[in-house]
Amino acid sequence: MPASRSAIDLPRRRLLKAAAISVAAIATINARALAAPAAKGLKARSKLVLLGTAGGPSPKVDRSAPANAIVIGDDIYVIDCGNGVARQMVKAGLDLGHIHDVFITHQHSDHNADYGNLLLLAWATDLHTRVDTYGPPPLKRMTELFLQMNDYDIHIRIKDEGRPSLAPLIVPHEITQGGPVMQDANVKVTSALVEHPLVKPAFAYRFDCPDRSIVFSGDTRPSENLIELARGADILVHEVIDLQAIGVLVKELSHATRLREHLLVAHTPMSEVGQIATKAGVKTLVLNHFVPGTPPIPDQVWYDAVKPHFKGRVIVGHDLMVL
Ligand SMILES: [Zn+2]
Ligand SMILES: [Zn+2]
Repeated sequence: MPASRSAIDLPRRRLLKAAAISVAAIATINARALAAPAAKGLKARSKLVLLGTAGGPSPKVDRSAPANAIVIGDDIYVIDCGNGVARQMVKAGLDLGHIHDVFITHQHSDHNADYGNLLLLAWATDLHTRVDTYGPPPLKRMTELFLQMNDYDIHIRIKDEGRPSLAPLIVPHEITQGGPVMQDANVKVTSALVEHPLVKPAFAYRFDCPDRSIVFSGDTRPSENLIELARGADILVHEVIDLQAIGVLVKELSHATRLREHLLVAHTPMSEVGQIATKAGVKTLVLNHFVPGTPPIPDQVWYDAVKPHFKGRVIVGHDLMVL
């Protein structure tokens, strides 16, 4: 979709969006689903955008924090909200006003630091339509507290700039177990519990789009539930760590032993990711959430460690890559 729209288009689109909110309120259906291309009988093709491919909470030089987007027609589905997600979306030419739903895999700060910020900044841009958000507890409390924390700015902008209230536009849904998450005219989303101690619950998500299926592992150690969820998928976006590089790096840290233990039990070594993709029978494996990220490890190192274990296509993910 274009990064900018003409001045003529914008008011009309807002009117359409405002109308959609009213319909949703009355009929308790997702009004935007009615306007989706699939519902009009048009061919809907999905676009996967890797917004941030780093792993871990510390900011990195060459990769932004975890975030992805699936775009179908005009609708954007955001998966994880690492720091900088709104800016990454703008850099990718995605319209923040078209965010349809947000999914958080787990409540680690590299995945949720900009959950609230994304919605606030989208609203401060041109978001006028409802956004449903999904993720583990305490998603509702996080939403409430974020709105409270930014109450001053939100009220000023409503008064000063004539914006609609933000709170009614955000509808959080807490999920605590694997299974169906949501479905609309574009996509069916299913989750699976993955293993990412000590964070519990942590989820992987599968998006069955009109043209293909895309699975996000979230953060997990090798997980049977993830393999089951990803079975036969077109694309598996999977996290990865390089244990050898981590061994060298953490040596210097005061909490080295504890950190290494966490990384070992909570993440998937690059030697095992290919086997997981093979077991799941996916077509394409996209490596993502690279740990460690500093200093950067060459693409070839990741690729060479994974490829012998998987016959399909292996892609070393990078920020703003479109698939
Ligand atoms: Zn992470
Ligand atoms: Zn994590």
